[in-house]
Amino acid sequence: MMKYYVQGLDCAQCAARIEAEFHNTEGLQDTRLNFAAGVLHLDAKYEGIAQSIIDQIEPGVRLIPAEAERSIKESNLYQNVLLSPRVLRMGVALALLIIGVVWGEVLRRTPFQAGEYVVFITAYLLVGLPVIWRALKNISQGQVFDEYFLMTVATLGAFAIRAMPEAVAVMLFYAVGEYLQDLAVDRSRRSVSELINVRPDRARVWLEDQWIELPPEKVEIGQLILVQPGEKVPLDGVVLEGDSYVDTSAITGESLPRYVKSGDEVMAGVINGSGLLKVRVSRPFAASSVVKILELVENAAERKAPTEQFMTRFAAVYTPIVVIGAVLLAVLPPLIVSTASFEVWLYRALVLLVISCPCALVISIPLGYFGGIGAASRQGILIKGANYLDALTEVSTVVFDKTGTLTEGVFQVQDILPHPGRSAAEILHYAALAEIHTNHPIARSIREAYAQDLDASRVEDYQEIKGHGIEAKIDGRIVLAGNARLLQLKGIRIQEIPHHKTIVYVAIDGQYAGAILLADQVKEDARDSLQALKEMGIESNILLTGDRYASAVIAAEELGVDAFYAGLLPEDKVAQVEDLKRQLGSGQKLVFVGDGINDAPVLALSDIGVAMGDLGADAALEAADIILMDGQPQKIVQALEIAHFTRKIVMENVVLALGVKALVVVLAILGLATMWAAVFADVGVALLAVLNASRTLRYEGA
Ligand code: ADP
Ligand code: MG
Repeated sequence: MMKYYVQGLDCAQCAARIEAEFHNTEGLQDTRLNFAAGVLHLDAKYEGIAQSIIDQIEPGVRLIPAEAERSIKESNLYQNVLLSPRVLRMGVALALLIIGVVWGEVLRRTPFQAGEYVVFITAYLLVGLPVIWRALKNISQGQVFDEYFLMTVATLGAFAIRAMPEAVAVMLFYAVGEYLQDLAVDRSRRSVSELINVRPDRARVWLEDQWIELPPEKVEIGQLILVQPGEKVPLDGVVLEGDSYVDTSAITGESLPRYVKSGDEVMAGVINGSGLLKVRVSRPFAASSVVKILELVENAAERKAPTEQFMTRFAAVYTPIVVIGAVLLAVLPPLIVSTASFEVWLYRALVLLVISCPCALVISIPLGYFGGIGAASRQGILIKGANYLDALTEVSTVVFDKTGTLTEGVFQVQDILPHPGRSAAEILHYAALAEIHTNHPIARSIREAYAQDLDASRVEDYQEIKGHGIEAKIDGRIVLAGNARLLQLKGIRIQEIPHHKTIVYVAIDGQYAGAILLADQVKEDARDSLQALKEMGIESNILLTGDRYASAVIAAEELGVDAFYAGLLPEDKVAQVEDLKRQLGSGQKLVFVGDGINDAPVLALSDIGVAMGDLGADAALEAADIILMDGQPQKIVQALEIAHFTRKIVMENVVLALGVKALVVVLAILGLATMWAAVFADVGVALLAVLNASRTLRYEGA
């Protein structure tokens, strides 16, 4: 799959039609056109076909491979709309309209009223020709009822009843409205491209005894890169030398700089503060955090929210209905009532046509969602689709994984209890070796407590048993490190230690050898976040954990959850979430929040799966619908706030647009609305809706 920018695409309905045409084309069925971001993904071998489909529907729109984009000036990628012939034409048309209205009398006194015709027809053609042309072209392609058709029929009709100033005004305001909408769309795309600015474009790599600058795509895992103060870290890696404060705000939304030293991980896209860093690259650029973030954000708008889908379908029936209504309105009253004049009712029908354009809805809804997704990503919340953003507003149950999600997941080894005949050092040594290959928080803390180098070659037959622990052969001896369940499973008798701490039991060659007591801490903002969720109307916060009852009950108490389930294996968590889902009322949704370790199946199963923290956990990234770039539970609250705000804006737009239209329709039928009013209402509403939608993009939090 290759990424393309779609240059010059500024009509949401055309985008929908292009997409529909793709769906009927071999090889392009699954291609989604992201109008809001101006992005398209397809297999490079279909580029030609895709372009030719676009040419038929929207000539002038070009597919530009994203790779080529960097060599193209930005001003090229986004059309320069400010001082275009388009603006000039609108200006001249406006001048002619004013002349025509002010000197109407004079112009009409010319032979055959030629002066008047010349002025108005010229003005009309200046702004109207592109519209008429489009309407004709679309009709030739079998697409009849669209806004161009409506505008063309309405204005030509106005000419027919000699309402020439109105005809010009309708076209002119329509053109101005379109133009301003383009500006707004362009602006919101630009703010996404600002986001794209976090994308690093140079890496300084140690090659053949010197530092060489390369594009980050060319750098390989294991190579050494140098990042100077003030520079962007180009690739994910581990600090080898140096220490510094790094600004992670572009990636995680966290405003406080983070201190990193030798041995710490740094993510591509963060900005190095004060120190010089040598970093060993740990991930290829394509798999790095920035690239993933950008892909997620850009692709997000491809998954459309139900409201959005509804509106597209609605527009498709709404327009023909209004057109039929207009025809009836023009024809029926004069037929039925003998005193009714055809001309009066035709005028009213034309007003109806002008007002029937669905543009405001079609364009403002995707922009609203796109803005919401953009605002969220600025706070380190990556939402994979407008559908998830929308679904967040319907959440009634939030299920949390405990370890690493609501607790720090950074355990401190508190005590080691060796079995008679063993030493504490021996227990820790074997446990650390057994835990060598896993990312589980328990394993990390045991390795940390051991704090010496581990020789991986001593570990054979390594096996991680999910929800239990580890079995491995170390120096030829079979070592188990895990919970009581693990040792029981392997037929080893232990004395369970009655304690609320998390306990890792260790067995060597079938003999119980000792236990390690670990303590975890509830995250600082966890309790407040759960409280905030309740205040936002979430019915229940539920805690799931693989940990034992004794330690879960303490955490549950401290957190103030509504219910908790302990001692769960990963498959039990799945069953539990299935059960909770069955208990939901209709239209209620369940969110699962986990750290992505051992919980990918639950992430996938829940209505909305939220993964926290480490972008390295690939399975979680795939399975999750929302990714929180840092581990603060507070981010869930923010995500919900953004979702509600976006939904509110979208609903406002729907109500505004439909409300004003309904009003003008009634006024038109009663003969109280002029065509001037109709065109102001239409263009005005579209603009208001677009401006309103762009508020989501700037949303900073309640
Ligand atoms: P949770 O994230 O809810 O704690 P997990 O499924 O990750 O659930 O783990 C459940 C339990 O399994 C842990 O509390 C621990 O007792 C045991 N366990 C899992 N992985 C390991 C491991 N690598 N080492 C030791 N114990 C483990
Ligand atoms: Mg877990």
